[in-house]
Amino acid sequence: MTSKSFNPFEVAQQQFDQAADQLKLDDHVRAILRWPMREFRFQIPVRMDDGSIKIFFGYRVQHNDARGPAKGGIRFHPNETLDTVRALAMWMTWKCAVADIPLGGGKGGVVVDSATLSVGEKERLCRGFIDGIWKNLGPRIDVPAPDVGTTPQMMGWMMDEYSKLTGQYVPGVITGKPVGSGGSLGRTEATGFGVIFTIREAMRHLKLEAARCTAAVQGFGNVGQYAAIGFSELLGGRVLAVSCYDRHDKTAYTFGRPDGVDGRFLQSITDQYGTIDKAKAQAAGYVIEGGDAWLSKDVDVLIPAALEGQLTAETADRISPQVKMVAEGANGPTTPEADAVLKQRGIFLIPDFLCNAGGVTVSYFESVQNDANYYWEHEAVLRRLDQKMGAAFQGVLKMALAHDVYMRDAAYMVAIDHVVKAMELRGWV
Ligand code: NAD
Repeated sequence: MTSKSFNPFEVAQQQFDQAADQLKLDDHVRAILRWPMREFRFQIPVRMDDGSIKIFFGYRVQHNDARGPAKGGIRFHPNETLDTVRALAMWMTWKCAVADIPLGGGKGGVVVDSATLSVGEKERLCRGFIDGIWKNLGPRIDVPAPDVGTTPQMMGWMMDEYSKLTGQYVPGVITGKPVGSGGSLGRTEATGFGVIFTIREAMRHLKLEAARCTAAVQGFGNVGQYAAIGFSELLGGRVLAVSCYDRHDKTAYTFGRPDGVDGRFLQSITDQYGTIDKAKAQAAGYVIEGGDAWLSKDVDVLIPAALEGQLTAETADRISPQVKMVAEGANGPTTPEADAVLKQRGIFLIPDFLCNAGGVTVSYFESVQNDANYYWEHEAVLRRLDQKMGAAFQGVLKMALAHDVYMRDAAYMVAIDHVVKAMELRGWV
């Protein structure tokens, strides 16, 4: 994920610096927020099915916990780096602050391709991750969750390992657990539907009629699937194309249908790693194009929901003149150079840590339910999610309009302001 040309942490710091200038933050406040508070890198020895022992590397970064325990997912990805985890941890701080949930920012990762592991190896790796970091986790310290390459079942194993090590049942140490094992109803669709709730608010602001709008989605994992499904089921719009990375061919493809894709059908032929079955899609009449084709579709909304660094100066030039909005389902999908292109073209942006805050919002609801040992109805979870996302969007829009700034800058201004206030109230600065 981090390459020579794209370092997500540099991007995260660059975005922060820009907002810090706008907010005229003092140097010592900047110094605290430009870097994570704590970082851990640890070995995870795992016995493989063939009897050998393989050493994996795990990371956990706690960027800031002024507003509450650090919070953020654990990624299993072969190209995971400390800088990726740092960037994601920092974005989590802003995400929780912009969504106004009482949590800080953290992130974790393991350098591994989970698709290459057996179920038993995966379980031992998850338990090993907790063995390596458990003393620095806890419901009041740092609460991980799933992310790219990790699943609710994996969170269930991690919660179990932590509970064994501490000698008590501690469901609140991790969120995104399976329902029935401390998980919340609605968590699965929370991020994708949250993306849709912010798109709905943006459409109202731009006076677009949702039912007449079209979209293209990059990525068909947890976020992309529910963004695509939500775009048609919750808004009444049409998704003309979705793309995914095919883990067998190691190539990305775009799947489209001029009258709109059927998100539920595509989901039914997608594996747990977000690879759509090409043969089944083709048999159902889908047109299959190259991985970048989603980007140049004549649609109203683009939803990058795969990985960071996808919209670059070069790819942003290929965006159709019809596009009115980019809703960042993924974390950090747009480079600063591409941001400048979007700004200059007047494309409305829903920035990542606002747009995809639905997952962490329902994770927070999950912690609340764990604490109370009382579980809410599905409908109640989604209703509260809708309220939170709507309020977060309106807060950022108000800041953007009041200061005549781009939505990303406005989101940073809202988020940093909340974090700095908490640091002041705690007497840190
Ligand atoms: P996932 O692993 O479930 O899915 C990722 C998808 O992206 C897969 O379909 C994969 O094939 C696809 N992909 C990867 N590279 C691609 C490429 N070059 N072109 C097209 N498709 C490509 O991951 P996810 O949980 O859906 O997360 C996606 C993004 O959203 C990440 O940036 C993640 O950090 C962010 N996010 C996730 C959540 C969550 O709750 N899952 C919450 C907030 C943010």
